[in-house]
Amino acid sequence: MKIHALNITRNRISDTIFGAFYAAFKLVLYLRTSAAAASTAVGPTDLAMVKLPTERIRRFEVMLLSHRWRATAPCTRRLLHVANSIEEMRKYRKNVTSNATIGFVPTMGALHLGHASLAQIARGKNDIVVASIFVNPTQFSKGEDLDKYPKTLESDLKMLDDAGVDCVFVPTRDMMYPPGHNSLCHVEPVQFSSILEGKARPDFFRGVATIVTKLFNIVQPSIAYFGQKDISQCILLQRMVTDLNIPVDIQVCDTIRAEDGLALSSRNTYLDKVTERPVANILYRALMAAHDLCMKDVNRKVTREELVNTALAILKTEKLVTNVEYVSVASHLDMTELDSVSGASGCVLSSAIRLGSVRLIDNILVGKANDVYRLHRHT
Ligand code: AMP
Repeated sequence: MKIHALNITRNRISDTIFGAFYAAFKLVLYLRTSAAAASTAVGPTDLAMVKLPTERIRRFEVMLLSHRWRATAPCTRRLLHVANSIEEMRKYRKNVTSNATIGFVPTMGALHLGHASLAQIARGKNDIVVASIFVNPTQFSKGEDLDKYPKTLESDLKMLDDAGVDCVFVPTRDMMYPPGHNSLCHVEPVQFSSILEGKARPDFFRGVATIVTKLFNIVQPSIAYFGQKDISQCILLQRMVTDLNIPVDIQVCDTIRAEDGLALSSRNTYLDKVTERPVANILYRALMAAHDLCMKDVNRKVTREELVNTALAILKTEKLVTNVEYVSVASHLDMTELDSVSGASGCVLSSAIRLGSVRLIDNILVGKANDVYRLHRHT
């Protein structure tokens, strides 16, 4: 009881001191960012000059937060370890006993309950759980939202700590892709640049395959957990570990949705709360209508055209849907497009749309595809 009270007092004092430091740090960060933005707007700026301090600032932020987690975690609980360099992550990994299983949850941060669910599943199945937070630049194409991708490191660490994660790997961009090091080697998935999501985002799958390989080599997990939300990524990675003999088991976990069906996503914060968010579940409703058509009679073959038109008919009812990039009816084994499907044979229905200026993706597994991928059902 005494230790508990002491911890609470210690945590309150250290929280207050930390809060003051962190607020001051954020203010300096804000002022510097505004100054950099102003100088970019006025005239030509040496981009390297702007980037380098930003990287340093971020590293400092990670150090500050990792110190806070170590300083304030109650003694009665395990400590969340924050590894802010590749060397530190390798050191942590080396200290894990050889027969312990390591569950790994790679993320880009701006975490929500979808990410937390992966961490919780990993927690339930492994001796050690490692997560990573890294916004991977190589999976963004020019003109995408790399620079404005939301960053919420402090609440991310809290969420991962609450989900029972043991260690969070938070490298900087320079550590994963050192400056002046134009990567000679990368992992190039052969067929995926021609599938629909690959056509829409030409650098995406190569960037994902490369960064996941790098993370696997550093963390060396036994099992890695990915969300069905990005089903083509899951299928690619399952294929990648098989083809490249990487000893990591890829587990696909359910998509976590808001009550109205919208799949949780870090990018949902871009949606306008008043106009766009209330209608953003249109994508889910469109895919579900096509799903229901397939499942009405599981043995009836339904053509691709029927399914696409069913989804399009719903998407067209919302004037905020400014573009339908694709509606895909694909094999759950390799994401190749199918001419016809039945509930009994199974498929993946997926789509990408623009709602206002926000790109939304979603997918539904149909019939037999569920048996293959839906390993962790949440109710
Ligand atoms: P991200 O940070 O967007 O790269 O996502 C990290 C991991 O979280 C990926 O495996 C995603 O598929 C997964 N994920 C993202 N959103 C959800 C969600 N709504 N439900 C379950 N998993 C998700």
